[in-house]
Amino acid sequence: KDNPSVDILIIGAGPAGCVAAMYLKQKGYNVLVVEKNEFPRFAIGESLLPRCMEHFTEVGLFDAINQAGFEKKYGARFIRGNDVCEFDFSDKFTEGWDWTWQVPRAEFDKVLTDTLEKHGVKVLFNTEVLDVDIQPNGSSTSRVKHIKNASEKTILAKFIIDCSGYGRLLANQMTLNKASDVQVNASVFTHVKDVNRPKGKEGTLITFDVLDLNTWLWVIPFSNGNTSLGVVSNEETIKKTKGDAFTKLNYFLNKSEHYKQRFKDCEPIINTYDMCAFSKSATKLYGTGFALTGNSAEFLDPVFSSGVTFATESALKAAQLTALQLKGDLVNWETDYELYIKSGVNVFKSYVKEWYTGNLQTLFFNADDNLENKRQICSVLAGYVWDIANPFVKHHDRILPNLAYLTKMKKNS
Ligand code: FAD
Repeated sequence: KDNPSVDILIIGAGPAGCVAAMYLKQKGYNVLVVEKNEFPRFAIGESLLPRCMEHFTEVGLFDAINQAGFEKKYGARFIRGNDVCEFDFSDKFTEGWDWTWQVPRAEFDKVLTDTLEKHGVKVLFNTEVLDVDIQPNGSSTSRVKHIKNASEKTILAKFIIDCSGYGRLLANQMTLNKASDVQVNASVFTHVKDVNRPKGKEGTLITFDVLDLNTWLWVIPFSNGNTSLGVVSNEETIKKTKGDAFTKLNYFLNKSEHYKQRFKDCEPIINTYDMCAFSKSATKLYGTGFALTGNSAEFLDPVFSSGVTFATESALKAAQLTALQLKGDLVNWETDYELYIKSGVNVFKSYVKEWYTGNLQTLFFNADDNLENKRQICSVLAGYVWDIANPFVKHHDRILPNLAYLTKMKKNS
């Protein structure tokens, strides 16, 4: 149809958009996903957390992803010189999934959208949502443009779920953007052919190598033989490092005693990206006729790989509430969406902040001193940030600095 009329318009076909669309389709709603790009397309966000397995299972995406044979991720290793801290998701405080995947997002997102289409969800690729006009009753008219032939049409919808990631369509249009209060970081990253990959676990283990307090390297091996390499540091450090993005990445890679040999001859097989000021926030996550999810709502920092899991958690929650609302139920978006989502974000925010103060690094590299604490921290790293039975969730803002202080006292005594 030229100007379709649907129940729910979903802007963006990343993990958030696909989870929301699958849920609503299963509930019998008429859903349309509009995606600016053609898939497969590169996206960053490759290390998943066990918590998101629950979302993929609930909406019926798990089997397709599982069949794609992505590398399984059972935990995460942090190293700093000779210090090593390894978290094993099977040894965590909160019950739940103890594994997930590490994925090249181009292929992963394509599996998601292929599955959507197989289930009868219409996805308009190469189509950008330009702007949205929402009426006081929540119904909306969105103007969309085909990227290749520049033709425009309008889409009528009863509700919009914004899953546009860094497009941040509604946050921009409704001036909901808010400066993030985590440290302003930047990153350079690429994929390489991992020609020197060691056999066994060492070859496939996801690792975060701490180069200095603010700077760390990620190594994310994929099942296709390629590996994602990236560095995160404060914006100033990345900006003042000389050369193009790949030269910058190599400069940091050479500082890694653990990895410089393995990757010394590796050539990038995709562009090397240079990205700054990626932390985003919003003053409000919902309004009449719409909800913001995933990166279109909030993104903190890559350090704990929380982005995709937050995207799928928020998308599923928004989709569930939308389904209830369109059925005629009264929905309390403030408590059941905004406060719920923000409580999880705030837990991760404490961990991000305390990583860069060094307090969390102190706890990680002395984690084997107290295995119960380690199990509780492991739950947070697996994405179980809504389990308030976990003291490392409930007291997230106090427990990390206090415990780091005690750990340092003990070491110095
Ligand atoms: P996206 O995946 O960005 O998808 C949004 C989609 O919307 C895109 O396909 C886009 O083309 C489309 N779109 C945008 N605007 C429009 C428009 N106007 N009309 C139509 N379509 C539109 N997260 C992790 O979980 N693990 C990691 O290891 C990780 N590493 C990261 C490293 C770095 C350096 C950065 C910056 C982020 C990292 N993230 C990571 C975060 C992760 O990239 C995001 O949190 C995640 O992709 C968000 O998913 P999403 O579905 O909200 O958005």
